[in-house]
Amino acid sequence: MGAGHAGLAASRFLGDRSIDHVVLERGEVANSWRRERWDSLRLLTPNWLSRLPGHHYEGPDPDGYMTMGEVVEFIERFALLSQAPVRTGTNVTSVRRTDDGYHVTTNHGEIHCRAVIIASGACNRPAPPPFPGAIPGSIEQFTPFDYRGPAKLPDGGVLVVGASATGVQLAAELQRSGRPVTLSVGEHVRLPRTYRGRDVLWWMHASGVWDQRYDQIDDLTRARRLPSPQLVGTPQRTTLDLNALTELGVGLVGRLAAVRDGRALFSGGLRNVFSLADLKMQRLLETFDAWARGDGRDAEVGDPEPFAPTRAPEPNRLQLDLGSGEIRAIVWATGFRPDYGWLDVPVVDAKGRLNHEGGVVVDSPGLYALGLPVLRRRKSTFIHGIEDDAREVVDHLARHLAGR
Ligand SMILES: Cc1cc2nc3c(=O)[nH]c(=O)nc-3n(C[C@H](O)[C@H](O)[C@H](O)COP(=O)(O)OP(=O)(O)OC[C@H]3O[C@@H](n4cnc5c(N)ncnc54)[C@H](O)[C@@H]3O)c2cc1C
Repeated sequence: MGAGHAGLAASRFLGDRSIDHVVLERGEVANSWRRERWDSLRLLTPNWLSRLPGHHYEGPDPDGYMTMGEVVEFIERFALLSQAPVRTGTNVTSVRRTDDGYHVTTNHGEIHCRAVIIASGACNRPAPPPFPGAIPGSIEQFTPFDYRGPAKLPDGGVLVVGASATGVQLAAELQRSGRPVTLSVGEHVRLPRTYRGRDVLWWMHASGVWDQRYDQIDDLTRARRLPSPQLVGTPQRTTLDLNALTELGVGLVGRLAAVRDGRALFSGGLRNVFSLADLKMQRLLETFDAWARGDGRDAEVGDPEPFAPTRAPEPNRLQLDLGSGEIRAIVWATGFRPDYGWLDVPVVDAKGRLNHEGGVVVDSPGLYALGLPVLRRRKSTFIHGIEDDAREVVDHLARHLAGR
């Protein structure tokens, strides 16, 4: 299910094993990248990391970051090269278990199959907190799914809620468009764009941090809920952390805790939140340093670099009167969640999470998943992370079909 890079990678491995299959896609190949992303977005992973089984970036700029059009082309080309049997425009409305497999209902009829791989994405819906109903009607509200660029927003102040990759990128873009931005910051992952002269994601990759397996991670639930890092892919390889946003003029406030009587109320513990993110970044950079020393790579890279602590705003605003006219729009950059509304098998918990062990759905033989956070490795949701996961999940599926 799904012709994003995850479903297509699964198809590639199924094809290699001559396992008869189809890829059902409600829209077109790479649908999420076509329909659910904003105009200025570029991948935050560099081009050299854009790899799928048997297909990788071959252009002139390995250190650059793809635009959405380039990502769509890259994934389309992969579908073509793998000769993936994709049925576009085919929306799955139900998957039910039967005695010997699964019954799949689509807008184009029914399919009976022995196994299903759910590759329908981890980010099907924006996940705003439960406040939108309490926001005064005079304020326009956006999610990353309906935000395309600053032009659609009214003139005037914008409150961006959430300071992970999406939030910091939209806050910077809106501030540069002349709208004064207030950014509400909760727990976040701070990362510099480059460290010791290399892209920080080179370090994640080369040091093996990204390859850490799900069954070796102490607190897997937490690892799966970690927000995306504060990164942006720009030709200038700029760092977009909170200090950079402060320099741009963005006002920082704490986590949005409540909206009461037309006022947005923010948590006061901003300094602690900043210290924690700074500390975690420092620890990660030290892990990289230790790896470089141990692996004899120190001479290849620059010297260790210090980074200034995140500067706390003075004074720290704890509330904002949403009726005062200061804020004209709110952008909910508070994350995404998958949608399993079509799944008629009891394998989703009360929080909407699929119950799986490394992509093998628990208590439902023949049902698999791909593309979810830390599915089998830390890199699972990234484009380059799918190859290892898809190979192993398809191995399991092949054993299941063979009755082993
Ligand atoms: C804003 C954003 C930026 C990202 N940036 C990067 C990045 O820089 N680098 C990186 O490596 N990763 C990035 N990711 C993460 C990840 O690569 C993408 O989320 C990617 O789209 C996930 O691929 P996928 O194949 O798992 O899911 P998707 O690409 O979402 O594909 C799922 C497919 O399933 C289809 N589908 C869903 N439900 C149904 C149904 N009921 N019936 C039929 N079809 C259905 C959808 O139409 C879609 O085409 C980003 C994610 C987001 C949200």
